[in-house]
Amino acid sequence: MDPQTILETLGISGEVLEGLGGASGPVRASGAIMESINPSTGEAIAKIRTCTSEEADAVIGRAHDTFQTWRAVPGPARGELVRELGNALREKKTALGALVALEMGKIQAEGEGEVQEMIDICDFAVGLSRQLYGLTIASERPFHHLTERWHPLGVVGIVSAFNFPVAVWAWNAALAAVCGDSMVWKPSSETPLCALAVQKICDEIMEKHDAWGLFNLVIGPGRSVGETLISDPRVPLVSATGSTPMGQHVGEVVGRRLGRAILELGGNNALTVLDDADLGMAARAIVFGAVGTAGQRCTSTRRILMQKGIAGALCETLVAAYGQVRIGNPLDPKTLMGPLINQGGVDEMMSALVKVKEQGGEILCGGKTIDGPGFFVEPTLVKIAHDCPIVHDETFAPILYLIEVDDLDHAIAINNEVPQGLSSSIFTTNYLAGETFTSAVGSDCGIANVNAGTSGAEIGGAFGGEKETGGGREAGSDSWKLYMRRQTCTQNYSKELPLAQGISFGD
Ligand code: NAD
Repeated sequence: MDPQTILETLGISGEVLEGLGGASGPVRASGAIMESINPSTGEAIAKIRTCTSEEADAVIGRAHDTFQTWRAVPGPARGELVRELGNALREKKTALGALVALEMGKIQAEGEGEVQEMIDICDFAVGLSRQLYGLTIASERPFHHLTERWHPLGVVGIVSAFNFPVAVWAWNAALAAVCGDSMVWKPSSETPLCALAVQKICDEIMEKHDAWGLFNLVIGPGRSVGETLISDPRVPLVSATGSTPMGQHVGEVVGRRLGRAILELGGNNALTVLDDADLGMAARAIVFGAVGTAGQRCTSTRRILMQKGIAGALCETLVAAYGQVRIGNPLDPKTLMGPLINQGGVDEMMSALVKVKEQGGEILCGGKTIDGPGFFVEPTLVKIAHDCPIVHDETFAPILYLIEVDDLDHAIAINNEVPQGLSSSIFTTNYLAGETFTSAVGSDCGIANVNAGTSGAEIGGAFGGEKETGGGREAGSDSWKLYMRRQTCTQNYSKELPLAQGISFGD
């Protein structure tokens, strides 16, 4: 599909697109015009008029109004709307996946994978809409009924990163919608078209269900529009995905007003390969994890911890595999790796490689930019010591650090020594090693896999990480509880007024 066909199929073509959506109603965007840039060519795809803080404030107000009615819609009826959202996404999967590839630069197969994740979380949320259950608890008082109930929370603010321009919104939006919340989304300024295309689908669903104001979009800079969203006391929950410095700021602002934040921040994910591993499997997982999305996933594999017995063979296999990676247009089905998001991403990678050399690292392959238009770089393998400062930073690029370890305990110590704690993995055929890695004395990350790579999580499990990754959890399991408020109810059906703890008060 060519760029114009992609935009027309998704209904977002036009001279200057409006950077607002959902509950904006009579509010029109009046901020500066920004361009969406194709990272494969460096050229503009479209122009978007951003909104101002005042306009974002008005959208939050209307989302807040919508919440007053949406919270009273029965859960299963809310699920019905999300079921239709999932079906609409099924119809648009190819075009939306292509737009993700065009605007963000990941290959189309990964772009469509993102849309599949959106569909999956919608399916999950539809089932959940009939299972938002609480507890019945034994009361210590006679003829008393103690229960715990879950109620809708309010307006959810969603701040998303460029690298998952549609899926991360869906993890939040599908759950928030069935939980009875309305929401306002501030996407990354690198990927406004993906957000507009998703909003267009939402608009059709809201129109059909007379639910205007449920899904809302505000496009504009983080420092103005984003700041308005995270500061607003009408937004009880902010779910923010992005870099650790951004999350630290969001955590402070939301914490100061005692709001709730779900923070999904940077990772520095290690994959351990023990001597007894299936090396072929490990190598495939490593290449997918380190080269996929050009190393711009929060779960990208960044460090390989190789036990000494297989280190030489694994390095050779990886150097050979890296030589085969086809780099180019992400919309070409033969391509395995697209560009980085922008020139800033390229510069960040190159300055990390300068530090690698200064700190004694050895570049085994790659390490250069690729001449021509767009923001293409070579995937890079580096042999380096585990305690070099650069190894402890998240560089959002396809640099993979190869580190030798003595044994399982050594690998676990190095896995855990970085400040981030998102994903981790071990390849081994030893059951005891796998169990240990995923035990209380194993990996300290939110995700720990055995014989599966660091990236590519399923939506059924709770997703997120510890330490500087922010501690948030999204998607499956019981993450939905963060999108609701818990109420403990005591109902007295006796004719007495016994006090808890047997307290006697003026009897
Ligand atoms: P970023 O931190 O630059 O931006 C993320 C979002 O925050 C953008 O929408 C940005 O506009 C917004 N923002 C910035 N300042 C803000 C403010 N003051 N108030 C409100 N919003 C503000 O991140 P990025 O470059 O888009 O994404 C890459 C980073 O995201 C990496 O560190 C990656 O690991 C992380 N990430 C984490 C996860 C996860 O689930 N843990 C998932 C995807 C990406």
